[in-house]
Amino acid sequence: MLEFKGVRKSFGPLQILKGVDVEIGKGDVVVILGPSGSGKTTLLRCLNFLERADAGTARLGSLEVDLNRATKKEVHAVRQKTAFVFQNYNLFNNKTALENVMEGLITGRKQPKETARKKAAAALDKVGLSDKYDAYPVQLSGGQQQRVGIARALALDPEVILFDEPTSALDPELVGEVLGVMRQIAADGTTMLVVTHEMQFAKDVASQVVFMDDGVIVEAGTPGQIFDRPAEERTKRFLRRVL
Ligand code: ATP
Repeated sequence: MLEFKGVRKSFGPLQILKGVDVEIGKGDVVVILGPSGSGKTTLLRCLNFLERADAGTARLGSLEVDLNRATKKEVHAVRQKTAFVFQNYNLFNNKTALENVMEGLITGRKQPKETARKKAAAALDKVGLSDKYDAYPVQLSGGQQQRVGIARALALDPEVILFDEPTSALDPELVGEVLGVMRQIAADGTTMLVVTHEMQFAKDVASQVVFMDDGVIVEAGTPGQIFDRPAEERTKRFLRRVL
C-alpha cells in the first residue's frame, strides 16, 4: 500500500498543490484527471523527488519519508520503489532500446550487466518490441519510444509506476499501441498512478479516478462514481467539456 499525504508545492507566489492526499492499493490503477494547470504533473514529480515538495509525507510499505526534508538516502530509497514514465519518453538518443532499459538497472539498481540485459530483453518483449533491441530512438516511432519508456520502468520491478501523460506527445494514430501496453500491464497487476487525458482508458482500467482542480482533489471514486454520478459541480463541468 502506498500513501501520500498533505502534499504542498508552490512556485514563487503560485500555490500549485494545496494539500493533496492519494492512496494506492497493491495492483490498483489510480488515474488522475483534471484541467490543464491543475497540478497533476507537479504532484507526480513531487512523489518521485523530481521536484521537492514544500510539505507532505509518502509511505511506501514500511518506508515513511517527509517529502520536503527527505535525506539523499531516503530519496534513493523512494526511487528504488518507484519508476517514472515521462510524457516525452526521456530516452538516451545515443543508446539502443536495450541499453536504455538496461541503464537504470545498472546505475540505479547496481545489477550486473548480464542480469540487466536479461531483464531488459524480457521487458522489451513484454511491450511488443522483441525485434527492436538494437534500434536507436531515432529509428523508432513515438509510440515505440514510449513503449521503451514503459519497458524501462517495468524492468525495475517497482512498487508503483508513475505515468505522466504518457500519450500526450504522440500522434493520434500512435496513442492506441501505448494505451494497449498500459492496459496489459494493468491486467498483469502492476500498481500504477496515471495522469492522463484519455477518458476511455480511465473508464475501462482505473480502480480509482481522482479529479484534481486548482491544486486540490475535488473528488475521487470508482470510474462509475466519477463519470456517471459525479457529486461536485466542478467535476461535472470538467466532464461536460471533455466527454
Ligand atoms: P497539464 O495537464 O497541462 O500538464 P497539470 O495539471 O499537469 O497540467 P502542472 O504541469 O502540474 O499542471 O502545472 C501546474 C502549474 O504549475 C502551471 O501553472 C505551471 O505553469 C506551473 N509550473 C509547473 N512547473 C513549474 C516550474 N518549474 N516553475 C514555475 N511554475 C511551474
